[in-house]
Amino acid sequence: MNREDFAILKEQVHGRNLVYLDNAATSQKPKQVLDAIMEAYTSWNSNIHRGVHHLSQVATMKHEEARQKVAEFIGAQSSDEIIFTKGTTDSINALAFSFGEMLLKEGDEIIVSGLEHHSNIVPWQMLCERKKAVLRHIPLREDLSLDLEAFKGMLNEKTRLVSIAHVSNVLGTIQPVEQIIRMAHEKGIPVCIDGAQSVPHMKIDVQAMDCDFMAFSGHKMYGPTGIGVLYGKREWLEKLPPHEGGGEMINHVRWNGTTFNELPYKFEAGTPNFIGSWALKAAIDYMQSIGLEAIEKHEQELTEYCEKQLKGLADEGMSGLVDIHIYAEGQTKEGVISFNVYNGKQLIHPFDIGTLLDQQGVAVRTGHHCAEPLIDEMKVPGTVRVSFGLYNDKSDVDAFIAALKKALSILI
Ligand code: PMP
Repeated sequence: MNREDFAILKEQVHGRNLVYLDNAATSQKPKQVLDAIMEAYTSWNSNIHRGVHHLSQVATMKHEEARQKVAEFIGAQSSDEIIFTKGTTDSINALAFSFGEMLLKEGDEIIVSGLEHHSNIVPWQMLCERKKAVLRHIPLREDLSLDLEAFKGMLNEKTRLVSIAHVSNVLGTIQPVEQIIRMAHEKGIPVCIDGAQSVPHMKIDVQAMDCDFMAFSGHKMYGPTGIGVLYGKREWLEKLPPHEGGGEMINHVRWNGTTFNELPYKFEAGTPNFIGSWALKAAIDYMQSIGLEAIEKHEQELTEYCEKQLKGLADEGMSGLVDIHIYAEGQTKEGVISFNVYNGKQLIHPFDIGTLLDQQGVAVRTGHHCAEPLIDEMKVPGTVRVSFGLYNDKSDVDAFIAALKKALSILI
């Protein structure tokens, strides 16, 4: 699918054709996005909002056009509900600070889940320490799905917010966010969705989902690094205080106090990443030109194909020695597979597999994937993670399986 647009895919690594299967960490960028960055710097680069001059006005218009594009892309009611940030981590930290400063008091509770990325744990943990509040997590069932019965029992009059990943970056599994949101809303509790691993792979409609906040990163969806989004329902964003002070976010500054700007500028202190927002718009245009449904279907098919090939390799058994354990096996996944290989009962360290794959030009991720509590629960030192983007195809899977076979023949 559109491989030609991604020049980097023609690169050689250790003298072999690059097979890039680390898309959950970051995606590659198509020519269209690189062109948008080039166009911005060569044609209209100028600081936004403050200038009366032409270039400043063009830059301002482009930044707001990008905001409108993001709003439409995720089905927000208005572009005022789109705050540009540096990425998912920055979005969650912004929310934790703003929401926490205003609404959290001693003894209150925040709920996350047992399969979160560190960026949806640590900001809440830091907040809870500051406020003497309690961070709780939804436990996992045997099959690594969320225990919603337990969640039901955790919701109480002290719960202030629930924050959950839409798609696990370790397992690729889709969490029942609609159900979680419904259950929380029945008790008047708002929900933040970490969309870092869902927005790049599936059609999102924040209004249909009814989440109160959503965070995601541009660099995982074919856009540049340094740009991300915090979506918030207007009624929430209007209530919440700014998390950072500086230029742009103010209305008037006097020695006896400052009044704040309207939405969304209240949450965008300093010069925003207006080149990044424009490039993110180009990335969204690019994804839309293919179609989100087509992207999701393609990646799910590839994931199923890869799982099958991995199982095939295990069945082949390298003389009956190898067992390949795929986590959350058979569950629908958004382009991510985590697995470990056992030689008899002995785990082959994921790092060793990753290194031998790299030597053959295959880029995968190994380790805890910034989700240590989940990896601890899985009782392994880490996993090997393969993750797909829209440009991957079966030839990448075949190359990966051949390279894995070779790696295992060395390790066993
Ligand atoms: N949440 C999830 C589920 C992620 O996969 C990631 C990135 N691996 C993040 C949050 C953090 O994203 P970023 O590093 O772009 O802020």
